[in-house]
Amino acid sequence: MALTSATQRLVAQFEYTDENVNIGVKEFLRQIDEGLHKSGTSMSQIPTYVTAVPNGTEKGLYLAVDLGGTNLRVCSVRLNGDNTFSLTYNKSPIPKLLMVAKSSQELFKFIAEHIAVFIKEHHYDHYEHHIRRRETMSSPEGFRDEHIFRLGFTFSFPVQQVGINKGFLIRWTKGFDIPDAIGKDVCALLQEEIDRLHLPVKVAALVNDTVGTLMARSYTSPGKTGALLGAIFGTGTNGAYIEKLSNIKKDMEGEYDTSTGEMVINTEWGSFDNQLNVLPTTTYDIKLDQESVNPGIQMFEKRVSGMFLGEILRIVLVSLLQDESIPLFHDDNSSHNDWKSTTSIAAQSGMFKKWGLDSAIMSVAALDNTPDLGTLRLELDSQLDVYSPSLEDAHAFKAIAAAIARRAARLSAVAVGAIVLQSGKLTDPAFAGEPIDVGVDGSLVEHYPHFRTMMYEALKAIDGIGEAGAERIRIGIAKDGSGVGAALIALVAASMEKKRPTTIEWLAQMRSEASLKTLKEVDSAVEQEAEETAA
Ligand code: ADP
Ligand code: MG
Repeated sequence: MALTSATQRLVAQFEYTDENVNIGVKEFLRQIDEGLHKSGTSMSQIPTYVTAVPNGTEKGLYLAVDLGGTNLRVCSVRLNGDNTFSLTYNKSPIPKLLMVAKSSQELFKFIAEHIAVFIKEHHYDHYEHHIRRRETMSSPEGFRDEHIFRLGFTFSFPVQQVGINKGFLIRWTKGFDIPDAIGKDVCALLQEEIDRLHLPVKVAALVNDTVGTLMARSYTSPGKTGALLGAIFGTGTNGAYIEKLSNIKKDMEGEYDTSTGEMVINTEWGSFDNQLNVLPTTTYDIKLDQESVNPGIQMFEKRVSGMFLGEILRIVLVSLLQDESIPLFHDDNSSHNDWKSTTSIAAQSGMFKKWGLDSAIMSVAALDNTPDLGTLRLELDSQLDVYSPSLEDAHAFKAIAAAIARRAARLSAVAVGAIVLQSGKLTDPAFAGEPIDVGVDGSLVEHYPHFRTMMYEALKAIDGIGEAGAERIRIGIAKDGSGVGAALIALVAASMEKKRPTTIEWLAQMRSEASLKTLKEVDSAVEQEAEETAA
């Protein structure tokens, strides 16, 4: 009984009502606008200089690297030009030690080594060809331009982008902390390590994962208009959307194409309402923030994303475990337990360690609707070293986890709903009846059961959206979005590079020139060109 009433009390603390949602949306709209007017605001609203989205006809083979918060993905993407693509990828967990390495070189070396492994494994002909060429050339990077893989680098941390393949790290998030990287160009750091391994790869574009998701959704969704928003709900959370140039009032240094009248803005909404004007805040949220590497920052993200939901749950459960009047994960004798043995929790349980409870178990809890919650109870045993959890324990765990996840989904709807309203598309007669496309990516939204359904419930409750508006919002998983998006932006970058004549065109031209003395000179000139291109 004590556990049941404690559970109900906790569930109530995580309730986020329709009224809260509407208050949240109003404040979100205010902070969007503030970020468009000046810098130094809680939501950074970073201009990306990307002024158009793809339409599905783009073609080519590109490499992409995605440094998320949890995993490193290396992939190659073939864009077929008909809204479809094929993708090959390798995925590896980022070692925790590298996230707080002494020098950023360690992290970028790790990435370059994974690129090398990937090319060897999946594009061996290409790789071998380069080794052969390299040995015949005077310069160690003597690749022909057409043999160089263009790489889109998805780097999901706040960056001040100053060019298509140049951007300075503003701050780390999601538990990363490598001070010497702050203020440095992350593309140059990666290129340096790639060159050290003599790989035929050029970092052609720097891509935020949200922008990549937006691009990917636009590429794959057939229709008149591209997607409005790309959003991530994985380790962290963030969104990038299409804003009217006329609404961007702060100074923009770089050059950009004004013909579309629009630009993609990277909101950095993980830091929405750092000042806590409207965000729901329990004692558990406060504790999590105080014990984080960046207290006071990324306050929205700390209530929404995969990295933090498990930790909130863990902090709540520890508080229950510390309360002796509440029998969580312990019963005095087996007569209380339908599994007929007494519950205990091991001292080494992740429950007692920071970040020791992975949000993935919350999905298991939500999916298990059997009368004895058998799957969840086995998972509590195998993942958290809770020996023979009782049915009551499992019920408490399930209910509290669900409340935390539901609050997260409804907060996510605040961000999505505010951006839909900001776009004006729901009331613009030019878009009447048109769907409003939103691409989402990240393990949380992909795997947590009914995450999107819970978002839709909240979207319907937003003034100015309602049932009819919510029906027009099409939230779809942009599967492999960051890889495809990075490839698309690498394509744009490649087309922007100064157009040179191909070697064959150039060779023909040189041969025809009477001033040219010997073929030997031509060959050395070809080598020279290749060296310049690689440089
Ligand atoms: P990244 O952010 O590195 O791109 P992901 O999108 O895979 O990676 O997100 C990883 C985050 O998602 C981790 O914080 C993890 O705890 C969480 N996560 C993974 N699987 C699940 C799941 N089934 N349910 C809820 N959260 C999950
Ligand atoms: Mg990701």
